[in-house]
Amino acid sequence: MKVNPLPSSGAPLAAAVARPWLPSPAAPAHAVLQGAGHAVPWRQNHLLAALSDAHHLRWPAPTECVHLRQGQTLHEAGEMLQWVYFPVTALVSLSMQDRTGEAIDIAAVGREGVVGLPLLDGNYTRSRAAVQLAGSAIRMPALTLAEGFAREPAVRELLLAYSQALVAQVMQTALCSRHHALEQQLCRLILLRADQQDGAALSMTQETMATMLGVRRESVTLAAARLQQAGLIRYARGQIEVLGRQGLQARACDCYGVIRREFDRLLRPRPVA
Ligand SMILES: [Zn+2]
Repeated sequence: MKVNPLPSSGAPLAAAVARPWLPSPAAPAHAVLQGAGHAVPWRQNHLLAALSDAHHLRWPAPTECVHLRQGQTLHEAGEMLQWVYFPVTALVSLSMQDRTGEAIDIAAVGREGVVGLPLLDGNYTRSRAAVQLAGSAIRMPALTLAEGFAREPAVRELLLAYSQALVAQVMQTALCSRHHALEQQLCRLILLRADQQDGAALSMTQETMATMLGVRRESVTLAAARLQQAGLIRYARGQIEVLGRQGLQARACDCYGVIRREFDRLLRPRPVA
């Protein structure tokens, strides 16, 4: 791919973009739903939707809408990023592992975000990204996003804002797991996932919820049963349907609102430069 000169403001990424030995990445094995060009559903990812059409048109091809399979690994910790993903209906979890192999989920990325932020920090990934919920995502070479970041102030501001929102989510979740009751945490988790899925039924097993909250599965079973008895959710065969959103919000701690407001504040639409 031809690499054009970069503005000085893109200096941290210039090395990554101009790296002459970086091979053209082989496309991972994902079923392509829609090819490059106008058919790609930009607006169904909230981060991309915050950019105007003019920005998208200036971005070089190729971008594709692909299907991500449940359990598929998008990148391992320590890898150089070759591709970045903007989820549409897929949900991707980011996890970290200690030396014993014990893994903990640190965040989930849905249609509000992008899997590929290590691009902003030398392109070295510290977390593993795996598909938690199968679905579609817009895929582009990491180099393409790096070029957009270096050339387009609006892209740069948006990715930095998303990075800030994600950090705020991780920090708030850490506080939540230490100070708030499990039922409150579960309400926060369900509400955030419901936002990421635009209100559709959520595919989450009790095992997945327990891993995400860092607690035993039995504890999640009890808390979910209480929410179901209160008529706030319907839970069956790994599917959660939200029946009473306001009731869940009333039972959740403040953390849901704090995280939600951060995303709304930071990810507002970006004007064309
Ligand atoms: Zn909390």
